[in-house]
Amino acid sequence: MKTNERQPERICPICGKAYRAVPALSRKDGQTLICPDCGTREALTTLGIEPDEQEKILAVMHKFMDSYE
Ligand SMILES: [Zn+2]
Repeated sequence: MKTNERQPERICPICGKAYRAVPALSRKDGQTLICPDCGTREALTTLGIEPDEQEKILAVMHKFMDSYE
């Protein structure tokens, strides 16, 4: 996947956040573009992870990704 391409600003229909990261495809309908965080949440929900646990995982992921910037 080309992650270095400049992305247009998009508004995530789930959380309403503006983002420029490479969008994720919603698993719910297979065509809605959502922000990477919501994509991760959907994936974690599929795995049966509780929402409060999902936020902890996202926080760790953000920390991890920030170290590459
Ligand atoms: Zn979102």
